[in-house]
Order: sequence, then structure tokens, then C-alpha cells
Amino acid sequence: MSRSADPRHALVIGAGLSGSAVAFSLAQRGWSVTVLDRALGAGAGASGLPVGLAAPHVSPDDNVLSRITRAGVEATLQRAQALLKTGTDWALTGVLEHNLAGKRRLPVDASDHHSSPASAAQLPQRTATRTPAIWHAQAGWIRPRQLVAAQLQAPGVCVRWGQDVQAIERQGDLWTVTDAQGQTLAQSRFVVVASAFDSLALLRPLPGFAVPLNPLRGQVSYGLMSDLKAAWSPDTPPALPPFPVNGHGSFISGVPTPEGPLGWYIGSTFERNCEQAPVRTEDHAANQVRLATLLPNLGQAMADQFGPDRVMGWAGLRCTLPTDCLRWGLLTHCACQAYGSMLAWARGASAWRCFAVSSRPLG
Ligand SMILES: Cc1cc2nc3c(=O)[nH]c(=O)nc-3n(C[C@H](O)[C@H](O)[C@H](O)COP(=O)(O)OP(=O)(O)OC[C@H]3O[C@@H](n4cnc5c(N)ncnc54)[C@H](O)[C@@H]3O)c2cc1C
Repeated sequence: MSRSADPRHALVIGAGLSGSAVAFSLAQRGWSVTVLDRALGAGAGASGLPVGLAAPHVSPDDNVLSRITRAGVEATLQRAQALLKTGTDWALTGVLEHNLAGKRRLPVDASDHHSSPASAAQLPQRTATRTPAIWHAQAGWIRPRQLVAAQLQAPGVCVRWGQDVQAIERQGDLWTVTDAQGQTLAQSRFVVVASAFDSLALLRPLPGFAVPLNPLRGQVSYGLMSDLKAAWSPDTPPALPPFPVNGHGSFISGVPTPEGPLGWYIGSTFERNCEQAPVRTEDHAANQVRLATLLPNLGQAMADQFGPDRVMGWAGLRCTLPTDCLRWGLLTHCACQAYGSMLAWARGASAWRCFAVSSRPLG
């Protein structure tokens, strides 16, 4: 049990991207931080995603969401630059975004926004559809688990794995967190709840702290680059885009798989109100259709990679807020990841919530 009345000690529940970003940012400012997680290692939750995109949202009026995600991407990429190994943990490749559903339109003057209409060179004929596309120069892929592990190594951060928090209560000046047997796991003047969808159960009994969180299950399908190359003719292999392509799910290749060798990835599915995250065959089929829509030629060339003997999967739960709370959730993320300060929304309370980072914690 750790007990701290130190005014610059904080307890963080959850060691995913949110909790590790909070812990890292507090530690950088001289705080000591104890992080508790029920799992036995990094990446047990959604942050175990094999690879994700760090790319900004864009909108014709450059709305708040777009500006916040741009700040988030910048901060994430800076942190990746400082803590991770380029090429294996992350890469600033740029990201091509096809406007398949007519959703993403640039502001009229996009010159300051790191995003611009894609050039002909960024639309390789054999892989890209002929739809309008946007090029995000300050964007790339990142392996969240690697970022989590690196953030948790900051001096001043102590992680305790295998700590399943079941309740949080206020005792005098201190927050006390307990396990299923009612045993005290830790105490501190400040607690940050960063346990994604599971935050709901922890916060519900605390008057004034409950928020309407929702689970949003998603599955990524992936396979090995070596299987791709073996299946393709060495004389005329289909061209793989040298950067992630987004717009109807996203396709990323040449990134190490959780198993080690380099892989390709297509995802993700979206399933509301599902609190479990098993890998499903039907979701591989949905991801295959996604690839065929996003990159038709590649989709055709990769059809045999989705057989049960080849395709692998990873599934997890995103944690979302209803749309009217979206700005609040994004600000939460932005405060933790981009600025390392949660004071803007602490409002004098010493129990803070950091979750509902939804689909875009990396940007
Ligand atoms: C399929 C899929 C694709 C995605 N793609 C992208 C992408 O391309 N780009 C992007 O930016 N984002 C993407 N995301 C979203 C991103 O992965 C998540 O939003 C992010 O990882 C959430 O981080 P978190 O720390 O809030 O939650 P989590 O990573 O889920 O961490 C929560 C932690 O809390 C711990 N915990 C839970 N309950 C307790 C408890 N009671 N006691 C102790 N510990 C507890 C868990 O063990 C876990 O380690 C994707 C998500 C999914 C599912």
C-alpha cells in the first residue's frame, strides 16, 4: 500500500495512453506519481492497438475539433520524437486521406494547417482511388504500447501492475482506492481516473463525478509482409503505399506486428454498446471490404491474405462520450497529452477524470 499526503503526489488509475500521458506530464513538472493498473503489463486496454494513426481532423471552418486534434498530433509526435525509436515504434511518414464519404474538406486557406490537397505524386496510380484526397504532412503511424511503456519509465513515475481498483472514496484529505476485498491499495490527495470505459463503474458511486461513457468496440485485421511478398509475382508486385492511407478505415504497412516481423494492417470496425472485445471472423470480412473500398487495386491483390490461415486480428474497446460531450473529452485528452496540465478542468476538485479519448488519442 502506498500512502501519500504529499501535495505534489498523484495517484493515477489506468496505465494506458491516457494514464501514462498524465503520469509523464506530471512527473516532468516535479510531481511523484503512482500508477495502478489491473493488468500485468502495458497495453492491456485499447492502447494495446498494434499500430494507430496520428493524423489531424480537418474541417471547412477549421473548427475546435480540428484545432484541438492538430495540437494533439503535434504534441504526440514531439513526444514520440523524444521517447521512441523512429522506424520501429513510430514514423513521421505523412498520411494520405481519401475523401470517400465527402466528409473531410479543407478550409479555404489551409496553408497553416499542415494539410493540403494531395499532389499527383502522392496518389500512386496502382494503389489509390481517383477520389479527392488530402495530404497530412505532419502525421504518421505510432505503436501506442511503445509510447505507453516509454512514458511510464519517466523518473518520478512508479507503476504497480496487478492492482484491480474496485472503489474510490474520500477519507479526510485523502482519496483511498481499494480492491475487491476492501483492502486499501493506495492513498493520495489527488487521484486521476484513466481507466477508460471501466471508469464508469469507479465513478458512478461518487456524487458529481459520473459521466455517460460508452464502449465502442473495434477490430484491426493484419498480416505479415512476408506472406504478401510470397504471394505476389516478383516481376510485377502491386505497389504498396509508402505511407498510411486513411479515409474509409486506414491501411498501414511495413510496421512491426506484436509478434515481431513486419506487417500490414487494415481497420477498424465500429460496434456500439459491446463491452467485450473478442476477435471475430466477420470483422475480418468487414475489414477486407474496407480495404477494397479504400484501395480497390490493392484490395483485389490482397484478397487471399484474409484467409483464416493468414489473417490475424486485434480487438479493443474505445471509450466515448455522447457527441455533446465530445469537446469536453477532447479537451481532457488535449490537456493531458499536449499540455500536460489538467488544471483547466480540475475546478478545485482533487479527483480528475481522464478517459473518453475515443478514436483519436494520438491526434
Ligand atoms: C480498433 C481500434 C483502433 C484505433 N485506432 C486508433 C488510431 O488509429 N488513432 C488513434 O489516435 N486512436 C486509435 N484508437 C483509440 C485508442 O487506441 C484509445 O483511445 C486509447 O488507447 C485509449 O487509451 P486509454 O488510456 O484511455 O485506455 P486504455 O488503453 O483502455 O487503458 C485503460 C487501462 O486501465 C486499466 N484498468 C481498467 N480498469 C481498471 C481498474 N478497475 N483498476 C486498475 N486498472 C484498470 C486497464 O487495464 C488499461 O490498462 C483505436 C482504438 C481501437 C479499439
